[in-house]
Amino acid sequence: MHRRGNGRFWGRKRGDRGKGPPRDRPTFHSRNVYIVAAPLLFIFAILRIIAYQLWVVLEILVGRSKAILPSACLPNQKGKYKCQSEAEEGMSGAAKASVGPAAPALATQKHHHRKAFEYISKALKIDEEDSERKEQAIEMYKKGIAELEKGIAVNVGQGQGDHWDKARRLQQKMMTNMVMAQDRLDILASSKMWKPMKQPLAVHKSNTLPRNSRPASTGGSSSATSSPARKFSHQRQHSQQNPGGRPAKKDLSSLKLKNIDKKLAETIINEIVDTGPPVQFKDIAGQDTAKQALHEIVILPALRPELFTGLRAPARGLLLFGPPGNGKTMLAKAVANESNATFFNISASSLTSKWVGEGEKLVRTMFTLARELQPSVVFMDEIDSLLCERREGENDASRRLKTEFLVQFDGVAGSSDDRVLIMGATNRPQELDDAVLRRFAKRVYVNMPRKETRKSMLTQLLAKHSNPLTSDELSEVARLTEGYSGSDLNALAKDAALGPIRDLSATEVKTVDANKVRGIKYSDFMESIRRIRKSVPADTLSKYEQWNLEYGALGV
Ligand code: ATP
Repeated sequence: MHRRGNGRFWGRKRGDRGKGPPRDRPTFHSRNVYIVAAPLLFIFAILRIIAYQLWVVLEILVGRSKAILPSACLPNQKGKYKCQSEAEEGMSGAAKASVGPAAPALATQKHHHRKAFEYISKALKIDEEDSERKEQAIEMYKKGIAELEKGIAVNVGQGQGDHWDKARRLQQKMMTNMVMAQDRLDILASSKMWKPMKQPLAVHKSNTLPRNSRPASTGGSSSATSSPARKFSHQRQHSQQNPGGRPAKKDLSSLKLKNIDKKLAETIINEIVDTGPPVQFKDIAGQDTAKQALHEIVILPALRPELFTGLRAPARGLLLFGPPGNGKTMLAKAVANESNATFFNISASSLTSKWVGEGEKLVRTMFTLARELQPSVVFMDEIDSLLCERREGENDASRRLKTEFLVQFDGVAGSSDDRVLIMGATNRPQELDDAVLRRFAKRVYVNMPRKETRKSMLTQLLAKHSNPLTSDELSEVARLTEGYSGSDLNALAKDAALGPIRDLSATEVKTVDANKVRGIKYSDFMESIRRIRKSVPADTLSKYEQWNLEYGALGV
């Protein structure tokens, strides 16, 4: 609002007109601004640019140092660097992988690898130099394996670049180391069991496949001497006479195996080729039909190959089916033993669990080895879990595994020269794929033991305790155990054998002279029958019978 009345207009008195500085001339203050503030502003601007440049340089330097010093290695309060595990950092490998380079994962891996190396080196030293301290070696191997497991578990992702490649290579290396350490640990653990038993050397010898016991009349001995299988058998005997020595790389390389993964082959030889105590047909109670079938299908052709040619060529696939625990595995072992064959023993379910991701390669390598080391028996237990009928939602991996198995099977079956028998065992024959059934041309039913078989099994089992039961008592136990499988009877006998120990007090158990413990009695069996029950439901048996009628090798 204009206030003309008090003589002021826009802050000036009327009388001031014409006296002050002209309106377009700078005031004293504005001159100060130009002279003092402008240079200051200019200097600030320069400083700001310099500060920004410095910050950029520092950022680059810090970024580089982070790449060199993994973020997992942080200085602690004492100023020393400490590598933290992923768990300590509270950050998952996957999260790390997504936020930065592979260096932290690599550092964590290296940390575990170094620790594993320390433990395993100690274990090896004790193992090689001091046979009295096996316990300690076992402990060290276990710790080493635990560290390797942690190292392998570090997520090395799918990232590209030097660090990621290194991390993946290290992971592979740790896996190989772990397999080797585990092998060694298994040997030590089993030799620890043998030691107190003071097994004579002959027992170790008998653990090998008795190729050298092949009768000269079979005509196979001379050729066998020069075959890779013969060499291998010799190496195995040698290694088993020195518990701890295993057929390692050197042994395999002497077989001149081509185009196969040597490490995997080594693992197969250590883990899948069975070197347990040999089983003979006479160790298996009953199962006469199955034994006769196997004899005709496998043993005779193996012993007289020249008779079994052309249409008489032996079947390459043989299926043992029936309720669990009745000697399928024992029969397969006996077949391998009595036909002087290398025995590859693998459970199909381990292909999809233990050998996950490597199943196809393993199957391929195993068949190559089986051909190299022939005559061979490839025994696949629980075959239904691998070769069941195709289902909705079956994943690609298991489909590929199944296909690989069938391809390899056909490869072996198609070659008339190869002496490789594939034996499958299953408790669920109904679930097998038609394509699989076609390949297992011979199907042998391994049934539940009848009363007489049960009696002879019990006699066999009690032989180690000087057969304390009379024939009538044995018959009665056999009668009462109707529906028991072979392995149920085994469990029953073991439980009854503990009867005399149960009669003792805790102090007596510690001090009693082993010769003064009373013998096993009929009453112990009666007690145990109440505890150890049969494991195969009666109604499932009729399904096996039915399947046998439809698909089994009847009346062999
Ligand atoms: P699964 O189907 O569960 O693999 P399986 O039929 O292969 O079982 P085995 O592993 O051969 O059975 O046998 C299990 C155990 O039962 C053997 O170690 C043995 O102690 C005992 N056994 C079973 N059948 C017999 C038999 N006929 N004679 C002697 N022992 C037997």
